[in-house]
Amino acid sequence: MTESPRGTRLDPWHGSYAARTQGMRASEIRSLFAVANRPEVVSLAGGMPNLADLPMERYADTIAQMLRMHGSRALQYGSGQGEVELRERITEVMSLEAVNAHPDDVVVTTGSQQALDLLARIFLDPGDVVVAEAPSYVGALGVFRAYEADVVHTPMDDEGLVPEAFEETLSRLKREGRRVKVLYTIPNFQNPGGVTMSLARRHAVIEVARRHGVLILEDDPYGLLSFDGEPLPAMASIAPDDVVFLGSFSKTFAPGYRVGWAHAPHAIRERLVLANESAILCPSNASQLSVAAYLANFDWRAQIKDFRVMYAERRDALVSALAEYIPNASWTTPEGGFFVWVRLPAGLDAREMLPRAVTARVAYVPGTAFFADGAGSTHMRLSFCYPTPERIVEGVRRLAGVVNAEADL
Ligand code: PMP
Repeated sequence: MTESPRGTRLDPWHGSYAARTQGMRASEIRSLFAVANRPEVVSLAGGMPNLADLPMERYADTIAQMLRMHGSRALQYGSGQGEVELRERITEVMSLEAVNAHPDDVVVTTGSQQALDLLARIFLDPGDVVVAEAPSYVGALGVFRAYEADVVHTPMDDEGLVPEAFEETLSRLKREGRRVKVLYTIPNFQNPGGVTMSLARRHAVIEVARRHGVLILEDDPYGLLSFDGEPLPAMASIAPDDVVFLGSFSKTFAPGYRVGWAHAPHAIRERLVLANESAILCPSNASQLSVAAYLANFDWRAQIKDFRVMYAERRDALVSALAEYIPNASWTTPEGGFFVWVRLPAGLDAREMLPRAVTARVAYVPGTAFFADGAGSTHMRLSFCYPTPERIVEGVRRLAGVVNAEADL
């Protein structure tokens, strides 16, 4: 087999790819997930919201009416910053977490995932450091890697990110001559940790970040999905000049429209709009007006309350099934969101165990997915958002069979 001048025979363009593509890795577990999505498998792996309770018929009428009235706008190009009527609605949503937002400071994006990409684009040079919780959201790690930044993890406990350890991490990196630009944090119902940062910790973390000149990216797709009481004030409400807040309609309404946003201090917002224009010209007007029509015509606050009740019931099903079937593991009990973080009984490796779990018709995400440095094999993320409570219990029962067989090996 001969090599083409440009690279391997399999991919003649091999030698032409930008260096940054080396950081873009397909998930090692993607092939397993093709199997995990079969109906006979209970998937505790994905983070898909449950949309069954949305009033589909009535919403279909609302969209038809929106298109009749505003079709020429909905189907046209729009502003790189996003439609103002949606940005106004977004400030109402943010007020539920005590942020006094202004529509001018909101940039609409194609899901908050794209906001992460834009922020990485405007802040990160190769070799810059992003500090993130240990563990952290796999999709954000992928973005930072794609911009050739290094993620350094800092520990959490059951009150969230530990400020003293964060300070220590920053001081160490400084001594090593590293440039830390950003703290990436998910303070509410963390993905995958299921932990919420207490109010005192929010203040303390902001204080440390300020002292070191580190910008905070507050990623908050789950903040309104609290099971016990109202959401805590967002970090952006405490320190609006030091925090970029990322929000999303994916979990509180529907991910299919791909509508999220960034709320940022003025100067950052300007660069975000430029970056958005160069990336996509403008976010989809059809999606934005469809979300705005939902917010205008439906009692979305009541809908979120219904979601909270539904997800709380599923969380309960998951943690009580763990207590019943895998009592020798330990886990977080989230007060909202979608995820429980499980430490396996000693000696078990979640990544090695996954093929056997899928054979037993249950799927999860091994902890290694949530670390930039290969740690996490003793843990797994279980999500309770999508399967019914009965299926969740059945899934944990199957998982217990695999764990026990593994422990006997
Ligand atoms: N951040 C976190 C923490 C998430 O869990 C997700 C979705 N899984 C996203 C961002 C991206 O959400 P979206 O692009 O759908 O708004």
